[in-house]
Amino acid sequence: MLYNNYPEFYILEEGLSNLKIELTNLQKQQFIDYYELLIKKNKVMNLTAITEFKDIVNKHFIDSLSLVKVCQPINMKILDLGTGAGFPGIPLKIVYPETDILLLDSLNKRLIFLNEVITALDLKQIKTLHGRAEDFGKQIEYREKYDICVSRAVAKMSPLSELCLPFVKQGGVFISYKSGEIDAEMKEASSAFQKLGARLEKIEAFMLPGTDIQRSLVVVRKEKPTPKKYPRNAGKVLTEPIV
Ligand code: SAH
Repeated sequence: MLYNNYPEFYILEEGLSNLKIELTNLQKQQFIDYYELLIKKNKVMNLTAITEFKDIVNKHFIDSLSLVKVCQPINMKILDLGTGAGFPGIPLKIVYPETDILLLDSLNKRLIFLNEVITALDLKQIKTLHGRAEDFGKQIEYREKYDICVSRAVAKMSPLSELCLPFVKQGGVFISYKSGEIDAEMKEASSAFQKLGARLEKIEAFMLPGTDIQRSLVVVRKEKPTPKKYPRNAGKVLTEPIV
């Protein structure tokens, strides 16, 4: 359907204007096409628990783009680790078409869906990669090659930083989308940041508009190369988190 036939389309425009993002007509249509593909595919595979237009807009699209509160992803090379149905990677790509995005996930059927989205929306400079972060993070082709590694709803902060930081260039950032109470998780992760060559830069905490979600964007800056022994093998990262 055309975006201007969507009665609730204003929810997306209003939400984005709060983030000072204005969409072109092409981008508006891309969001609608993405929404429709998501809803259609969700009937045959598990992509999202929420399906109402306003919920997808607030909890997936706007949430993904709330990244602009902590960084302007202009001309950046970005890795979305554990992208699932494409969050935050696809909304970031629609709004920032000049970014270079890699969508990584260990579940191939989600990537097959994302490849369909990429084709249908005619997105360029965006690829999917199937496998585990523990494996790709050791490979020279991917290691320390990204300006930003983003990740939403994948793991607790300590194991997540071991998965994400090996991909980040020195001087780049790892940004995690966390919800709810994160003090204990942050405390547990502080020595992991240090061992992985990084430092906590800031935490931007806010209520996600139109929802009851308390969102924290945790920005971790990579200062030194990550020691070669990280990431450890699959399994260890999660069962024996760095302390
Ligand atoms: N970021 C999306 C999906 C979250 S679900 C969102 O917020 O909606 C977590 C996703 O991470 C799943 O699709 C899962 O397959 C993927 N994942 C978990 N551990 C992973 C790992 N070690 N390497 C690659 N992908 C992983």
